[in-house]
Amino acid sequence: MADLFVCLSFDHDNVAAGVARDMVSPTAISRGDFGITGARRILALLAERRIPSTWFIPGHTIESYPSCVQAVHAGGHEIGNHGWTHRSPATLGPAGEAEELTSGSIAIEALTGRKPRGYRAPGWELSAHSVDLLLDAGFLYDSSMMGQDYIPYQARTGDRVMLLDPMEFGPDTELVEMPVHWSLDDTPHFESVGPAAGIQPVPMNARMVVENWIDEFRYMKKHYDWGVLTYTFHPHVIGRGHRMLVLEHLLAVLRREGATFLTLEDAVTEYRRKFPDGVSLRGR
Ligand SMILES: [Zn+2]
Repeated sequence: MADLFVCLSFDHDNVAAGVARDMVSPTAISRGDFGITGARRILALLAERRIPSTWFIPGHTIESYPSCVQAVHAGGHEIGNHGWTHRSPATLGPAGEAEELTSGSIAIEALTGRKPRGYRAPGWELSAHSVDLLLDAGFLYDSSMMGQDYIPYQARTGDRVMLLDPMEFGPDTELVEMPVHWSLDDTPHFESVGPAAGIQPVPMNARMVVENWIDEFRYMKKHYDWGVLTYTFHPHVIGRGHRMLVLEHLLAVLRREGATFLTLEDAVTEYRRKFPDGVSLRGR
């Protein structure tokens, strides 16, 4: 019997992602406000199907929408750190990045009574300092990188990257990477945000996209006895009616195909059990 795990992750950015880009018009804010409607629909669906999930929530969302994030916590879902603002860590410098980690975790601990174990960088844009800062702050895992698809691995620190010389890989660390990918994220398929043009909706047929998402699982099932597949959704994106229908369909098919749904934190535990020495991407 294969162990085929699926992690559903929801980045509950709401207005924070727009605010971080100075998109603060009433219309831009309303786009984030819709995330509350989307979150309610998602929480109801997950409760009905008894599916656990992980929500990465910026402190800005936690403190702006207390009853919504309380409902996420009350639903038994894991809450991970997604910064306090939604600014890219790569733009903040080490001190600013550390401050974001701290204030984001304080907001989560005030909500849940427990420090978050996982982190996802806003926009998945880690800095060269992120892995060390996450280890210093006691995080177990990150979920922002794309070095594998079905097998988590140990995050490296201190890579030397040069244009005219080969890579010098830094050492593996204790931080577990739970990989993601743009193709398994709702936003690039359905909505994108350009710096000049504002919000650019992408008229993608949701039923075509869900076939890609299902096939990603089917490939894992065909070729792996053990694996973790992580999907990334945003309540203000996937929460639209026609997209909720494909999310319902996705969950039904995955369950029928044999997926076991886990929070990312629990999937890290399974990874540690399966690979006690960790998985390294160095020296391949
Ligand atoms: Zn985000």
